[in-house]
Amino acid sequence: MNKKFLALLSAGALTATLLAGCGSGGNTESSTAEPSGEEGATLTTIESGKLIMSTNAQFPPYELVSDGEGYEGTGYEGIDVEIAYALAQKLGLELVIDDMDFDGALLAVQNGKSDMVMAGVTVNEERLVNMDFTDSYANGVQVVIVPEDSDIQTIEDLEGKKIGTQRGTTGYIYCSDTPENGGYGEDAVTGYEDGATAVQALMNGQADCVVIDNAPAQEYVKANPGLKILDTEFANEDYAIGVAKGNTALQDALNTALAELQADGTIQSIIDKYIPAEAE
Ligand code: GLN
Repeated sequence: MNKKFLALLSAGALTATLLAGCGSGGNTESSTAEPSGEEGATLTTIESGKLIMSTNAQFPPYELVSDGEGYEGTGYEGIDVEIAYALAQKLGLELVIDDMDFDGALLAVQNGKSDMVMAGVTVNEERLVNMDFTDSYANGVQVVIVPEDSDIQTIEDLEGKKIGTQRGTTGYIYCSDTPENGGYGEDAVTGYEDGATAVQALMNGQADCVVIDNAPAQEYVKANPGLKILDTEFANEDYAIGVAKGNTALQDALNTALAELQADGTIQSIIDKYIPAEAE
């Protein structure tokens, strides 16, 4: 974690940010994948026998809408999708993926609309007030995307610039905080609906830079010639699965399943499949 932003994690701004974004409707398309697990569903979930995952499938390579049938017929692909499928199998539950805005995906688990949120979600203190998290399964880094010819060379140069982020994300939270807390103030930051929209704003000059997680940043830069990622990292974070506050039965079951998938190499092989080692 960048020292500059450590203080921000206890700044208490997150809840307000999340609530501010909650009016946005997400689409509620869902898809299902049958379990092959033999263990049988002993867990109580929102819908019996199902494990409902809320996500924002605009976050490659963690979750994206598939052009085809998707992983195991889910209609979606990505690291989170494959890990979630493996977890559901272990728990003997049918995975149901509910795609919506990122801030909506966080709220869904808090409001009992989903059993878990898996969306490259960073664990931080503010979120821990409203929900519980499993052990971390991946690492995330906030980076800065700029046009190749930008005069922004380091994080210090972000002062006075138009910063694009995805609404409700840690990138938004860090950047929109006060300068005393290491941010640039709310007026400097726009929270777009998703990462792709933020990058679009950068491409057409509405934003000077985009602060976003490294893995999707790599994908966006690959897909949009003329963009680059600054060498300086903005913040280092842990991704975990969010569950409803106090749902220790599901939290424990997911942690046990995660540990098994970690021990047998499944999680690493899923990550390696989507993020080749040299791109990390
Ligand atoms: N890791 C970031 C966060 O949790 C962004 C996640 C996302 O955009 N899906 O805020």
